[in-house]
Amino acid sequence: MSHLFEPAASGRAKCRGCAQPIQRTELRFGERLPNPFAEGKLTVWFHPACAAYKRPEPFLQALGETTESVPDRDRLERAARAGLAHRRLPRIDGVERSPSGQAMCRSCRQPIARGSWRIRLVFYEEGRFSPGGFVHLECRKTYFETDDILEQVLYFSPALSDSEREELWSA
Ligand SMILES: [Zn+2]
Ligand SMILES: [Zn+2]
Repeated sequence: MSHLFEPAASGRAKCRGCAQPIQRTELRFGERLPNPFAEGKLTVWFHPACAAYKRPEPFLQALGETTESVPDRDRLERAARAGLAHRRLPRIDGVERSPSGQAMCRSCRQPIARGSWRIRLVFYEEGRFSPGGFVHLECRKTYFETDDILEQVLYFSPALSDSEREELWSA
């Protein structure tokens, strides 16, 4: 059995991509992984959009095979293809104002000033995402090798206010 889409049987599973619950009956994406503790495989669940952004390869594989109707399919497929073309895009975990001046930018290796915008990164390994540091908002193009990242950055930043969103759009 390979990666799949299916309607969630309960509302208990949390999305691996954003840590929010997946509602019952909502379509979810399941990534199948070898089970490190037992025979067989285990499944980790995602909202389809979270998987398109953060797990583009298995997402596209399942998209090509599924008979379920995936909401917003064309847009999600484009997002996933962008993530394959630009290998660092799936690391995007949102944007925030730096609460301190201690973190270094992974792109330019300079400190990120307190209060300035930084993009959060995560690294994926065997079904889990771990914190992967930050890059300056200004370093996005150098680091991600594309400037087309805002939709994805905002998607993973649900706590931002409208005025903060506008500020980012104009940046
Ligand atoms: Zn999610
Ligand atoms: Zn930088």
